[in-house]
Amino acid sequence: MSDAFEDEDDTGRRRALSNARVLGFIARFWLRRKGLFIAGVGLTLLAIAFDLALPWASGKLIDTVSRGPAALPSAWSAWAWFVGVYLGFSLIRNLAMRFWIPLAARNMEEMTNEGYVRVQAFSSDWHADSFAGATVRKLTRAMWGYDSVTDAVTIWLAPSLIVLVGLSVMLLLRQPMAGIVALVVVAAYVTVNVVVTTRYVRPANLRSNALDSKIGASLADAVTSNPTVKSFGAEARESVRVAEVTAAWREAVMVTWHKFTNVWLGQNLLLVVLQGGLTAAMIHAWSQGQATPGDVAFAITAFMLMSGYLRNMGENIRMLQKGLDDTEDLAAWEHLAPQIADAPGAPDFQPSTGPGGHGRIVFEDVTFRYKAAGAPLYDHFSLTIAPGERVALVGPTGSGKSTFVKLVQRLHDLQGGRIVIDGQDVAGVTQGSLRRAIAVVPQDPALFHRSLRDNIAYGRPDATDAEVIAAATKARAHDFILKLPQGYDTLVGERGIKLSGGERQRVAIARAFLTDAPILVLDEATSSLDVETEGQVQEAAEALMAGRTTIVIAHRLSTVRGADRILVFQNGRVVEEGRHGELKAAGGVYARLNAVSEGVG
Ligand code: ATP
Ligand code: MG
Repeated sequence: MSDAFEDEDDTGRRRALSNARVLGFIARFWLRRKGLFIAGVGLTLLAIAFDLALPWASGKLIDTVSRGPAALPSAWSAWAWFVGVYLGFSLIRNLAMRFWIPLAARNMEEMTNEGYVRVQAFSSDWHADSFAGATVRKLTRAMWGYDSVTDAVTIWLAPSLIVLVGLSVMLLLRQPMAGIVALVVVAAYVTVNVVVTTRYVRPANLRSNALDSKIGASLADAVTSNPTVKSFGAEARESVRVAEVTAAWREAVMVTWHKFTNVWLGQNLLLVVLQGGLTAAMIHAWSQGQATPGDVAFAITAFMLMSGYLRNMGENIRMLQKGLDDTEDLAAWEHLAPQIADAPGAPDFQPSTGPGGHGRIVFEDVTFRYKAAGAPLYDHFSLTIAPGERVALVGPTGSGKSTFVKLVQRLHDLQGGRIVIDGQDVAGVTQGSLRRAIAVVPQDPALFHRSLRDNIAYGRPDATDAEVIAAATKARAHDFILKLPQGYDTLVGERGIKLSGGERQRVAIARAFLTDAPILVLDEATSSLDVETEGQVQEAAEALMAGRTTIVIAHRLSTVRGADRILVFQNGRVVEEGRHGELKAAGGVYARLNAVSEGVG
């Protein structure tokens, strides 16, 4: 098994929430729809009352019948009660379900929606550290966990407990010995089940669940990288990787299931004790002349009811534990702060409307270090970019160019200093409004598996078709789009895989045109396009840069030549800055970098 999977998926890393906390998380959903919940509980309790009356009705029937044929009219009335009680129980229980159904369906819907909102709010670090497949699995599993827990608790366990205690008390009043046996067995049954399930079964079950998430993770990872798998002819190797994970899951789940089955055996043995104890107590009472046939019928009916409920209870404690564990990840996310949070009451970012124009970016004494890294990448770094300025970032790989952009977007928080755009600290405005003010054309744009139209309009979903076409035209994308069989309705494949690299770039540029943000970030592709496409992308980018503050992570000579200022990065510091000509003449780092690229170009 690969180390890559040994992150927070494995139960060792994160301490699981207690059962009580997971149950609390679920119970808060029940209380969201108090009307439905109260109706469900009320009707369930009423059904229980009918169920509890069954031994009484059967005892009464037997006692009446044992009085001989003379009692026929009362026998029929006792019969009517006996049948009526069961009919009442069934109808009311069924009615209760009509309230449980909408409660469950709506809560499951909301749980998934809200879980997804949380997942989206987690930082890019969190997403970089998580497997998409595992996240999806955890989200969908939680919803069914809710269903199991709710069914187990509200429909089965709580009613069972009431019935069992109620029957024991009724027995106690009628036949003290039998009642005591029943109470002791029920108490032992419940205690043993709760203790054994949480201490003995739960750890194994959590481990199986972690491996279940891992199956999702490794499948999604391999499926999304299928082009790579194919190009290396590595299908067999990938199948083996998945098979290793499923084998680990199989081993873990067998342990879990065996444990559940052991518990089940214990439950049945306790039932035998109950059966033996109850009937022995009744034989004893009968031998002493203290029990009528009706009493015996009462006790036997009570045992049959109790054993039915107890057996059910064993099964439902299993369901409950499984459901709680299935929901545990989602419940834990509720306690996981999104590492990058909006300040309370933070206003939206407002581009400056002053005479100086908008898009002034100021780094004030910024210190930043990646969580995983030892030393800070940026150490007391200061820089000002003027409104409308076109700045090119150059420098060796790993020097901090992409990080610069991520900090402007506030994808990470700083350890010191601040970044101010148009007079507003990026940490003091809402993240959404900040990022909507920054259009990013990434190096290798990933598109959605949606139509080209939707992809282009992603920054402004309300854009008209004419606006989409205008943006695509400016981005030199319109012509190639028209040549596609479905034009703007063409689906581009996951991550845009059905388009060429140059086409994807132009779609991303069209998208940035429509977004019309005051700040533009262009991460130039390092991959070389053919001369004609390269020219088209270049023209499109030039048009896009006009009138905006632009940060270009530059790989092309033409870009750096056209820049107002070039910042030469090395180890998170700007070691040189100036125009192309000046820097070239200075004979420093830039001149050396430039000599290489000119030599190649
Ligand atoms: P390139 O030209 O190759 O794109 P770059 O200048 O854009 O390089 P950055 O991506 O900013 O470089 O990375 C700067 C340094 O920070 C590198 O040493 C990189 O390994 C490190 N780094 C980047 N992202 C992370 C991360 N999420 N966690 C830890 N370290 C990171
Ligand atoms: Mg980079």
